[in-house]
Amino acid sequence: MEKLIMIKYGELTTKKDNMKVFIDRLYNNIKNKLIGYDIYIIKDRLRMFIDIKDYNEAAIVEKLREVFGIHSIVICYKIDKDLDSIKAEAVNLLSKLTFNSFKVETNRADKKFPYNSVETSRLVGASILKSIPNIKVDVHNPDILLHVEIRNDYSYIYVNEIEGLGGYPTGVQGKGLLMLSGGIDSPVAGYLANKRGIDIDCIYFDSPPHTSIDAKNKVITLAKKLTKYGSNINLYVVPFTEIQESIYKNIEPTYMITIMRRMMYRISERVAKNNKCKILINGESIGQVASQTLTSMYVINNVTCMPVIRPVACLDKLEIIDISKKIDTYNTSILPFDDCCTIFVPKHPVINPNLNKCIEYEKLINYEEMIDIAINNIEKISVKNYKFVDNDIL
Ligand code: ATP
Ligand code: MG
Repeated sequence: MEKLIMIKYGELTTKKDNMKVFIDRLYNNIKNKLIGYDIYIIKDRLRMFIDIKDYNEAAIVEKLREVFGIHSIVICYKIDKDLDSIKAEAVNLLSKLTFNSFKVETNRADKKFPYNSVETSRLVGASILKSIPNIKVDVHNPDILLHVEIRNDYSYIYVNEIEGLGGYPTGVQGKGLLMLSGGIDSPVAGYLANKRGIDIDCIYFDSPPHTSIDAKNKVITLAKKLTKYGSNINLYVVPFTEIQESIYKNIEPTYMITIMRRMMYRISERVAKNNKCKILINGESIGQVASQTLTSMYVINNVTCMPVIRPVACLDKLEIIDISKKIDTYNTSILPFDDCCTIFVPKHPVINPNLNKCIEYEKLINYEEMIDIAINNIEKISVKNYKFVDNDIL
């Protein structure tokens, strides 16, 4: 009996017209994830099969659990498509396990198979009952659920189904630009964007010497952690000091944050367009701070026509924290390094900013020229292979 890993696709099967694109992308993402393994992957319309040879299956399953577009991962056994073989191998498989009750469930993709799914389950179940002592059938709450799948070429049996990450294969929707700060929310936003099939590049606004190299390294570390769910990430580090200082010197304090964020959006849009990113993504969460009230969002968003998605907009902080722990960004995010939003914080930032006032205030600074300079001096970091210099590592 040949052991394989069967991949069940998730939501992508509902996208009929794009199915081939989705499956091809998933296939490539799985291949990239399993680089270094000499294995063979067969893709078909409803399932993918990985011949894992003598490799440790647990290690491969762990890696597959980091790939979006997978509904479940199944260790299965491939057998000939005749009832006697199925019965024999089902008995063989279950006789190695300890249980009191079981149930057989059959999925018959090949309608030419001479028994329908209910008949197949009944016949295989009867054979198991006859061969293994002291067990019974329990259709409601069995200790073991044996799945039989009759497909066109072979049949497959399995007992365990491991939950995958779900979502769409990362990259199938193209690329977005994630505004990545060192906080908890934006890495989670990037992960959730990956889940909907969006590959990401990242942009970080750096204000040295007001922000430290530690803060920048923290962002690089977070971006590195996000590469687990997609491909390599380019991180664009924008020198933001001059713009921030100019805002600090010239703008009415209550509007400083609103205007700083309008500058971030303007720069992000240009960087996105220059690098084939179709949308902006950020970690804004409604009501979290003054710049994230609905009025603030309207006024800040007003500087760009590019779609901005905010995957954590409607999540509670605790829900965001749960995800950040799951994706292992939390402990990095809570490292106490200032970023550019925390250093020039006015006592009373406006929570209902007025768009016309913003436009008037912005006339006080020469922002277009400063934005050009900032964009011309962006540092581009290819995150996956980035090596920290000595004692930079967080
Ligand atoms: P996070 O939201 O990531 O936890 P934060 O709460 O400190 O960090 P906010 O001030 O809430 O950040 O900013 C909202 C969003 O704006 C962030 O989630 C991020 O997408 C973006 N942002 C803030 N600061 C920066 C920065 N220095 N560089 C890039 N993006 C930033
Ligand atoms: Mg936040």
